[in-house]
This record gives sequence, C-alpha cells and structure tokens, in this order.
Amino acid sequence: MINLQKLRHLSCICAYCGKVMPINERTNDHIIPRSANGKTEANNIVICCQECNGLKGSTLINDFLEKYPEKAECFYNYLNMIDYQTGNSEYSDAVSEVLSESLRMAYKRKKRREKKLRKKQKKATNTITLKQEDIQDIEYSFKLSGQKFYINELQAKILDYYLKHPNFSDYKTFAENLGIGKTRFIREICCINNLTGVFKIKKMSENGIVLNDFICDNIQNKIIKTSEKPNCQSFLPSIDEKSEILILGSMPGVKSLEEQQYYAHPQNRFWKLMGLFCNVENLHDLNYQKKLQNLLKNQIALWDVIQSCNRDGSLDSNIQNEVPNNLPDLLKQFPNIKIICLNGNKAYTAFKKYFPDLLEKYNCYKLPSTSPANAKYKLDDLYNEWNKAINLSKTSD
Ligand SMILES: [Zn+2]
Repeated sequence: MINLQKLRHLSCICAYCGKVMPINERTNDHIIPRSANGKTEANNIVICCQECNGLKGSTLINDFLEKYPEKAECFYNYLNMIDYQTGNSEYSDAVSEVLSESLRMAYKRKKRREKKLRKKQKKATNTITLKQEDIQDIEYSFKLSGQKFYINELQAKILDYYLKHPNFSDYKTFAENLGIGKTRFIREICCINNLTGVFKIKKMSENGIVLNDFICDNIQNKIIKTSEKPNCQSFLPSIDEKSEILILGSMPGVKSLEEQQYYAHPQNRFWKLMGLFCNVENLHDLNYQKKLQNLLKNQIALWDVIQSCNRDGSLDSNIQNEVPNNLPDLLKQFPNIKIICLNGNKAYTAFKKYFPDLLEKYNCYKLPSTSPANAKYKLDDLYNEWNKAINLSKTSD
C-alpha cells in the first residue's frame, strides 16, 4: 500500500473535480471521517482541492458522490489514475470498499472500459522522427494550473514528444535520436516528474516511461520558449504528518540538482550530521530513499526556502532572481511542525526576507551550513550547534 506522502505526490488532480493542482494546494479528505475514528492513512484518504474539500465538509462520501454525479465520474478517474501510477489496484480496491453497491458497480464498469481502451492504445505503435538541428541551450517554460515550470531544452523535447505520442514506449530509440544515453534520459524524466508529476517510470526494462494521460491535455501546446531563465529549481518537500522539525536549505547545489537528491555532494556533512541525530551510524552510506525514510522516522522534514533562481555554480552568493517556495501553505498542511532549522546564512536571510511572520510564529534556528564551503565548521562543531535546535523538539513535548 502506498503511503500518504506518495499519494499526495501522485495526486496531481483533484479527486472530486479533476482540477490540476500544484502540490501545495492538495488537501486530505478522510473517507471514513475522523469523527468516526477514520484513520489518516492513504487507504482512508483521497486528495482533493480546497474548494471540493470545503463543499464536502463532513458529508459521507456515498451521499456526496450520489448528490454530485459529475464528481463521482471524476472520482473514478482519480482512482484509475492512482492505480495507473502505482501499477496495481491496491489503492482503488481499498477505497472502493466503502462505496455503496451502486457506486461500486458504476466504478467497476468504468474500470472495465478503461482497461479495454488501454489495451487498444497499446496496440498502436509509433515511429520516431526527431531532428537534431535545433538543439540549443534554451530554457523553456510551461504553465500547469497557474504555476509556471521551467525545464531545459532536452526536457522540453522529451515532454513535447510525449504529448504528441502518448502511447510511445520505445524510449531507447528516442534517447539514441537525441544523442543521449539511457541514464541521462531517465534522469531528465525524473526531473520533469519531480516538477510536475507528469511521468511515471514503469517497468524500465520493458516499456520505459509512461505518460500520465490525465493531465497531458492540460499542458499540451503550452510549452513555450522563454527569455527568463531560472536555471535552478528546488525539489518537492520530504515531509509527512508526523514531522516536527523542518530543515530548510537555500537551494540545492549543482550536484544535488544533477542527482535530484537533497544534499548529494559527497563533501556536504548533512547526512553525516543527520546520522548522529537519527542514531544511524552509516546513514550517509544508505540509499537515498532510506536516508529520507530515516529522517521522517525521526520527525524531520526537508525543503528549501527558494523555489527557483538563477545561479552559476553552487555558491549561494551567486543566486539571482529568486522566487520563494510557498512555506506558509506547507506549514498549514503540516501543523505538527514546531521547529524550523535554517541550514546556512542564505537560507536564513531569504527566510527572514520572505516570511517574517513565520520567524515570529515558529522556533526558528539559524544554523551553520553543512555545505563544504563552510569548512571552518567541523562535524563536531556542526553537531554542537544543531543539537541546540534539534534537541529542543525532543524535550518540548
Ligand atoms: Zn476539486
């Protein structure tokens, strides 16, 4: 079963109206209400927009869907979309169990139709004709649900191609035509996916990457060349409902952006430092997912203050045209956060500049940067300073 964070990540459309939502507009709706002891777990949650959540209020899901048949349609699409992205039907099976007989039957019919359609689409094959003549270093942007995303030229080409060939599966040939290797190709897909949730990687050895066709309509024809060129874009937050400590960097460094992983530079002391707090000696040697899991287990969440900017190299002093992340919304969605740790000077000054209210409202700590550029702090020094912030949360409740 997927966890709540993953569900939130995959839920790029509202379960009740189908609106495409950026991550910070996604809200939890309990299927069995909390008042009836419904749990806050993925199999009892659907992700929807604030409007629908407000409209539904405490209405039971069966009453709500029967009252609004068009929302029921969207709801079935949503279940199918999650199944499609997870590659199994665990989520929809669990959720549809609580539906009334008539709603469940309607959903089953819909699911069968969907399956047939997919089979048909699979049969259609596409050949690739991609010209290399106009590969230049141009940044592209597109809008998705009011939010602007910036991607590089290669990513734009990949995205554009998928929009035109939604059933495309032979990514090896496609990567060859672009003159790039499989690994690079997959990495670009991951970048796009981290930004938008457009792609999912399914059975890499066979069919490669599958487009989430529920939202491709929304970005079709919207990829445009742009003269503004932020070359850095931060990741999605790593956070769950239990998180109490939020660690904010300024903007991931070059190595991290390349790997699409927080604190990926081998000389950055971040993971060694976190290993000390999590009591996991070899934390920095674990794979990335395990690292994040260990932090979440210890109620530690990660994000960055800056959403996008221009920057040559990794130095904070080179940051220009910065746009902040929507921290107020994140904190609203995760009310358990009590402590905010700002990793380094730039994270602190940007935070102070954009969110003076939050600085008042939360226990905020300006902490010495774990970056290799801050060499005067050894690991022990870092630990002593960070310990003041991170220890506090453990004793405060
Ligand atoms: Zn909605």
